[in-house]
Amino acid sequence: MGTVEESTGPVRLDGRVVVVGGGLATARTVSTLRRKKLTGPIDIVSAEGHLPYDRPPLSKDVLSGAKDSTALPFDPVKLDVTVHTERVATGVDTRARVLHTGRGDLPFDGLVIATGAEPIRLPGDGEQITLRTIDDALTLRDRLTPGARVVIIGASWIGAEVATAATAHGCQVTCLEYADAPLANALGADVANRLVPWWSGTDLRCGTSVREVSGEGVVLADGTVIPADVVVTGIGVRPSIGWLDGSGLATDRGVLTDEFCRTSVSGVVALGDVAQRWSPRTGRHVAVEHWDDAGGAAATAAVALLGEAPAYDPVPYFWSDQFGHKIQYVGAHTSDDIATITTSDSGDLDTVTWTAPDGTLAAWLGVDRPRDVIAARTAVGTSATDFATAHA
Ligand SMILES: Cc1cc2nc3c(=O)[nH]c(=O)nc-3n(C[C@H](O)[C@H](O)[C@H](O)COP(=O)(O)OP(=O)(O)OC[C@H]3O[C@@H](n4cnc5c(N)ncnc54)[C@H](O)[C@@H]3O)c2cc1C
Repeated sequence: MGTVEESTGPVRLDGRVVVVGGGLATARTVSTLRRKKLTGPIDIVSAEGHLPYDRPPLSKDVLSGAKDSTALPFDPVKLDVTVHTERVATGVDTRARVLHTGRGDLPFDGLVIATGAEPIRLPGDGEQITLRTIDDALTLRDRLTPGARVVIIGASWIGAEVATAATAHGCQVTCLEYADAPLANALGADVANRLVPWWSGTDLRCGTSVREVSGEGVVLADGTVIPADVVVTGIGVRPSIGWLDGSGLATDRGVLTDEFCRTSVSGVVALGDVAQRWSPRTGRHVAVEHWDDAGGAAATAAVALLGEAPAYDPVPYFWSDQFGHKIQYVGAHTSDDIATITTSDSGDLDTVTWTAPDGTLAAWLGVDRPRDVIAARTAVGTSATDFATAHA
């Protein structure tokens, strides 16, 4: 969908807004609503027992021990917001304009859906830790003791950051990856193969298929059991949309919105990891699922709830800190694009430039190249040759 299907007009400034979620998208949307002079009541409904907090540091500073809290700057008293923690949204009646929760209904004039995403788990009754919440991170950190046998399933972005922390804590790390190299699905085999040396302090087993997590450890597809003291599953996430079943809101992978974060129902916006937003730039709905997008969309989502908003369709950006390196990626590439890899004098991965069939820059990745990120982000969609010449 590129347009909303029905219209009841914008939410009045004295209207009641309910925001579902407890992450970055929620914090930023609520702050913007108040800045834009919404005087009506705002209720935040969050499944977690905390005020909104940030997630990227969970797998970095919290696991390393540098931080115990990642609270976002957010003062409910100053913002005059009621935060309902440990309260789960269970459904929404978009005609009656009521949110159903595990602890009663909340009426709304405007609804913000910011329920993020939830980790995918593997079958089996053995303990597996996934890393999505501050509680997950603190639990995992306590278990990363010297010599502990930590088995990570998935050499993903999360898997790599957990492996970094676990090796730093002196754990014996085994990582089981289905693909032939870490991040091969995300970055392609040629780039992924260059990342293998980073994993040298771990027992990285690529091309390995896991059947389940049992009480004895991780059971592979061939029946082999890998014993483990700690099992961390990092095989991806799914947008948290199950609670919207039967609501009539248009969904696909996530909640479908237009470029203004408006869903198929007037007065209901969605943003962050839960949303799949129309991108006029690429001509499709995109599920970006990165920090920069969740935070940046808030200004548009809040303003769109109250009236006319500017479109939000930036070139995607994300980063990952792993094995002492910062990876930064801008744009989005497909298997049709040609990857050009540069390496440093020592042979380490330096940059990757993906060129689309029409010669434009589709995406760029830099390793420890923070100064080039803005230029690369600006160059996406322009001549890849010009960008490569300017940044040789
Ligand atoms: C460990 C970790 C590391 C990351 N590192 C990076 C990184 O380095 N770079 C990067 O770009 N991105 C990173 N990300 C992704 C980034 O954090 C997310 O894109 C961002 O948090 C999305 O924000 P959000 O507000 O949309 O959702 P979330 O932050 O996921 O918040 C959603 C909230 O909604 C709540 N909720 C869900 N369902 C319900 C319900 N039915 N009722 C009530 N509440 C509900 C959840 O409990 C949660 O509090 C990382 C994510 C994680 C987990």
